[in-house]
Amino acid sequence: MTGEPRPNFLFVMSDDHAAHAISAYGSRINETPHIDRLAAGGMRFDACFCTNSICTPSRASILTGTYNHVNGVTTLDTHMDNRLQTFPKLLQTAGYQTAIVGKWHLGHGPDHDPTGFDFWRVLPGQGHYHNPVMLGPGPGGSHEVIERGGYVTDLITDDCLDWLDRRDRDRPFMLLCHHKAPHRTWEPSREHFTMYDDVEIPEPETMWDDHATRAEVVQAMRMRLMDLDPIIDLKSPVPDGLTEDEEVRWRYQRYIKDYLRVVASIDDNVGRLLDHLDHEGLADDTVVVYTSDQGFFLGDHGWFDKRLMYEESLSMPFIVRYPRVVAPGSSTEAMALNVDVAPTFLELAGLDVPSDMQGRSLVPLLSGEEPDDWRRSMYYRYWMHGDRIHRVPAHYGVRTETHKLICYYNDPLGQPGAHGPVAPTEWELFDLLADPLETTNVIDDERYAAVLMELRAELARLQAELGDAPYVAVG
Ligand code: CA
Repeated sequence: MTGEPRPNFLFVMSDDHAAHAISAYGSRINETPHIDRLAAGGMRFDACFCTNSICTPSRASILTGTYNHVNGVTTLDTHMDNRLQTFPKLLQTAGYQTAIVGKWHLGHGPDHDPTGFDFWRVLPGQGHYHNPVMLGPGPGGSHEVIERGGYVTDLITDDCLDWLDRRDRDRPFMLLCHHKAPHRTWEPSREHFTMYDDVEIPEPETMWDDHATRAEVVQAMRMRLMDLDPIIDLKSPVPDGLTEDEEVRWRYQRYIKDYLRVVASIDDNVGRLLDHLDHEGLADDTVVVYTSDQGFFLGDHGWFDKRLMYEESLSMPFIVRYPRVVAPGSSTEAMALNVDVAPTFLELAGLDVPSDMQGRSLVPLLSGEEPDDWRRSMYYRYWMHGDRIHRVPAHYGVRTETHKLICYYNDPLGQPGAHGPVAPTEWELFDLLADPLETTNVIDDERYAAVLMELRAELARLQAELGDAPYVAVG
C-alpha cells in the first residue's frame, strides 16, 4: 500500500449486538438503516466469529490479536495487563492520533487502565445507561471522575465527535467508539421508550427448543427467558393468571423490545458518525468498522445471553467500509475471527504485523480475493466454568464450514471460584448444513462416526497450532 495515504480508523463496537438484530444481516425483527448504509458502502462478513463469547476476553483478543490462553484474559475476572502489545499502541507509535471512548471493561488502575491512547474516557466496569459516570486519566495515575447527564450511547458519540473536531488534521487518527449498549439490562433512551409498543415482535424459530439431545450441563444452565428477572430485566411484575407458555411469550416481548430499542439508539448514533465523516470529507480515507464483541441469544433456543459456542452467540456482526480498498455492497463467507482485527488494521495502515499476533489480516478478503490457504476451521474456548448467575459450563470446540464439535470438560476443580457441578465430560456434534439452527446433537449417531474422528483430529491440530492444550482433570 506504499504511496497511498494512511487511512483513518473509526472502530465502532457495541456490546452484545447480535448480527440477527441488524437488517443488513437479514433481521426479521428490526431495521437498522444506518448500519445498513455502512454495509451498502462496504463489505459484510457473514462468517465472523469470536473465540470466547464474553465481553472482557473478546475485547482482549481484538486489541492484541491473540487468543485468551496467550493474553491471559480468560474470564470476566482476569483483567488485561496493559503492558501487552495492542494495535492501538502500534498505531500510536507509528504516528497515529489514538482515542477510545466508552466501554473498556478490561480493568482499571495502574496495571489495567487503557494504554496506547492519546485520549481515553471510559465507563467504569459495565457503566450505566442513564447519567453515567466516566473515567479519564488523573494526576499521578489516579482517575478523573466525570459525571455526565444524558443517555450513554448519545454521550459516547458526542465525545467521539468532539475529539474528531479538535484533532490534529495533519495526522491520521484511530478512534475506538465502544458502546455499552445493548448489554443487559437493556434500558432505552427517552426517544425510543415507546418504540414497538403497538407491535408484536416475531418469535425466533427455536424459541421452544426442548434441548432434549444436548449435554446435561447445558440443559441445567440458567439462561432461559424464565430466568430473566421480571423487575430488573423486564421492568414489570409478571401479570397474573398466565400459563407457563403465555409467560414465556410475555417475557420474550418485554425482553426483545427493550433490546431493540437500545439497538435503535446505537443505529441512530452510527448515523451521526457517518454524517460527520461525509460532512468533513473523510469518508474515502477512513476505514469504518461496525462490530460487536460477540453475539447474543435473542430468545433463540429459549435463551438470552451468550457464552456458548452455538451460532447466535459465536457470530459477530462485522462490516467494513473503506472505499479505497473495499467494493461497496460486497460480502464474504470466508471465516473471520476477532483475533484478525489487529492484523487487519496494521496492514491497512501499512505496518508490519508482529509475528506473535495469532490472527490473520483480512485485507485480501477486503480486496475481493480469498487466498487458497484461508482457514476452513476455527477454535473456540469458553473458560468461565459454572458462573454464579448462568451456570454455563466451560467448553472448547471446533467449527468447520459444515460441522461443529463441542467438548464440555466439566471439571471445575481446576477453575477456582467455579459454581458448576462436577460432571463427566460431554460432547456435542452438529451438522450445520442439515441442521443450521443446531437443534439436534448427533454425537451418538453412527452415520457421523467418520466426521467425528476428523473433527477430533482437527480440534487437536488447532490446539497444538495455537498453543492451547486439551483439558486435563485435576486430582
Ligand atoms: Ca459483550
